[in-house]
Amino acid sequence: MPELPEVESVRRGLAEARIRAEVVDTWRSREKMRMECDPRALIGARPGALRRRGKYIVWEMAPAKGQPLGLLLHLGMSGRCGIAAAGDPRALHTHLVVSFGDGRELRLVDPRRFGGYRVAPLAELLAAAPLAELGPEPLDPDFDGELLAARLGRSERGLRDALLDQRAVAGVGNIYAIEALFDAGLHPLTPAARLRASAWDRLAVALRDALQRGIDNGGTTLKDFRNVVGEVGRNQDDLRVYGREGEPCPRCGRALRGFVHGGRSGVYCPFDQSARRVR
Ligand SMILES: [Zn+2]
Repeated sequence: MPELPEVESVRRGLAEARIRAEVVDTWRSREKMRMECDPRALIGARPGALRRRGKYIVWEMAPAKGQPLGLLLHLGMSGRCGIAAAGDPRALHTHLVVSFGDGRELRLVDPRRFGGYRVAPLAELLAAAPLAELGPEPLDPDFDGELLAARLGRSERGLRDALLDQRAVAGVGNIYAIEALFDAGLHPLTPAARLRASAWDRLAVALRDALQRGIDNGGTTLKDFRNVVGEVGRNQDDLRVYGREGEPCPRCGRALRGFVHGGRSGVYCPFDQSARRVR
């Protein structure tokens, strides 16, 4: 599933395409997605800034008259979003096409349809769910252990599951949660409420590092993720523990152990990530 670094890679790719020509047409598939709408309000609008919030992309669009619009994009479990020439054949499972006056198109491809899109006045989009419900951005300058503790410090859930709550922290998914917990030396199933301040500080730093590394590597490609020009990310080669069950721990050399909790798998080092460690 695309997490913050993968979505940020897509956002940067879309921005680098530097599309300035106005929207001349839109097309949508008839298949139901988790989030969808009639995109025709975009016709005549000129594309502007691209933002990211958590795992969402917001593309600002300025119509000829009236208030600014936003195109909200979510990649769900298996979504891809890219720029293509209008003449290029459409991939299977294309669900949204936004055609620009310069002959290029934005295409959203999503085989499992857990992702989606929405078009609305920008102010409305930013003030309503899902964006308004998201927790703080872990890469914002003021994100630290104190903030993380304020969001999660009363949760009885295990740390890994707690970190996946998008209302607590935006953009973190299983891969980067597992990586950050390893870096911070914390057991993924330790109840969040047990952590002391020093552990929250370490976890906040580890989270930022893991996410930033993911962005620097152009995202992680396990199955589906591709950036805007169809390239795979490189971060899968840089993961310390995720997907490496049974392999030697990069820190102590003992075998990494896998676990499944709440239907999600994970990996940790039983030696470096002791369940008793809370500070
Ligand atoms: Zn170890």
